[in-house]
Amino acid sequence: EVRVRFAPSPTGNLHVGGARTALFNYLFARSKGGKFVLRIEDTDLERSTKKSEEALVNDLTWLGLNWDEGPDVGGDYGPYRQSERNALYKQYAEQLLESGAVYRCFCSNEELEEMKERAKQMQLPPVYMGKWSTASEAEIEAELANGTPYTYRFRVPPEGSLKINDLIRGEVSWNLNTLGDFVIMRSNGQPVYNFCVTVDDATMHISHVIRAEEHLPNTLRQALIYKALGFPMPTFAHVSLILAPDKSKLSKRHGATSVGQFKEMGYLPQAMVNYLALLGWGDGTENEFFSVDELVEKFTLDRVNKSGAVFDSVKLKWMNGLHLRSLPQDELVKIFEDRWKSVGVLVDSDGTFAKEATELLKDGIDLIPDADTALSNLLSYPLHTTLTSAEGKPIVQDKLSEVAAGLISAYDSAELLAALDEGHAGWQKWVKSFGKSLKRKGKGLFMPLRVLLTGKVHGPEMGGSISLIYKAGQCGAVNLQSG
Ligand code: GLU
Repeated sequence: EVRVRFAPSPTGNLHVGGARTALFNYLFARSKGGKFVLRIEDTDLERSTKKSEEALVNDLTWLGLNWDEGPDVGGDYGPYRQSERNALYKQYAEQLLESGAVYRCFCSNEELEEMKERAKQMQLPPVYMGKWSTASEAEIEAELANGTPYTYRFRVPPEGSLKINDLIRGEVSWNLNTLGDFVIMRSNGQPVYNFCVTVDDATMHISHVIRAEEHLPNTLRQALIYKALGFPMPTFAHVSLILAPDKSKLSKRHGATSVGQFKEMGYLPQAMVNYLALLGWGDGTENEFFSVDELVEKFTLDRVNKSGAVFDSVKLKWMNGLHLRSLPQDELVKIFEDRWKSVGVLVDSDGTFAKEATELLKDGIDLIPDADTALSNLLSYPLHTTLTSAEGKPIVQDKLSEVAAGLISAYDSAELLAALDEGHAGWQKWVKSFGKSLKRKGKGLFMPLRVLLTGKVHGPEMGGSISLIYKAGQCGAVNLQSG
């Protein structure tokens, strides 16, 4: 059975890197009909906070990455917080002591420092060279009787190598001769991180460890512990780093990097998930638009890229626009309407105004808050008045070419407003006769006409725009002040 886990340390916000790791685990579990476990790695008691854990849980939930087992939902292999698993770590440490895989090390910090110095002088790797790996029963008994504090030190084979087959990185191997015997439990009884992770992954029956590349070096110690405990080794898959556009490690100075920030900015979770999946993965085609269900169907670890993926916030925003526009119409209208009302652009709605506005404007909107300016921009130029500048010159004249200036004198706003009373057909009739009177049509008519009527050079489809502006004036649904 496939069992994977996401194992965040609750020491800060969920960043895009962590979210992608969680997503790959989730997709792998769902695509294999397996289980996705959430484990909170809060052994660092100084830096771990409940608040971070809650934020993590909220962000993962918002992304829709539901887990089958975890601290909140329970499961057969709990507890799912490392801070609650001390008895288990202790039990396995004792087992390893009994089997001889670890030994009690009574060296003081001073002695260890001296050893390091000596190794340095002899140009040897800083491995443990103390006597406790070979101490006699009597020597050990004597220190125990004295109450000398001791650590549990793991016995590393002095020669040879260890190799794993990483699903993303291929074969990875390490020489053992530079590792040295390492501590798995401190003298105060605190288990060491790599030991906890191994005991957890083993006792939670994790089949695949999918995690960030930065944990690859930990894998060597963890693999040795697996062997010593007699547990089957999981399959490893180490996912590459996420890079900034300048190829440096992505960090705060590159802008928003935490899931919470994107949520605040108005991103849709399905767009985040789609974009995160593309950071190092693709289905082998040109297609980049995927729903979560499609991702579950298509995702395989062997298509995950070995090299670092660049985080491109412009592309993320573009992708958000795709997802926004692929929502069912009612849903999109509701989102925009709620947004417009909450920021006060829209005061009231007769039911069709928000719908028409949404249809007209949606193509230019990638992010929900962009809808505010899109609407207020459109409506900021009332049809029935000719705005004048401080010098008393019609403003449109500045934007109209000399040739098109004749439009201004020919234009009669009362005529247009009367025509608009008849809806879209009225608009079409008016445009036709207005163009005829000026002997203009096509681009030569519509470009200057847009400037004349909306005060702008570009904008959404003109008939729709003008009708909407007219409607806004009629029904008083819109707060023009806020524009
Ligand atoms: N707690 C580690 C982290 O947040 C993850 C360790 C692992 O996945 O093995 O980076």
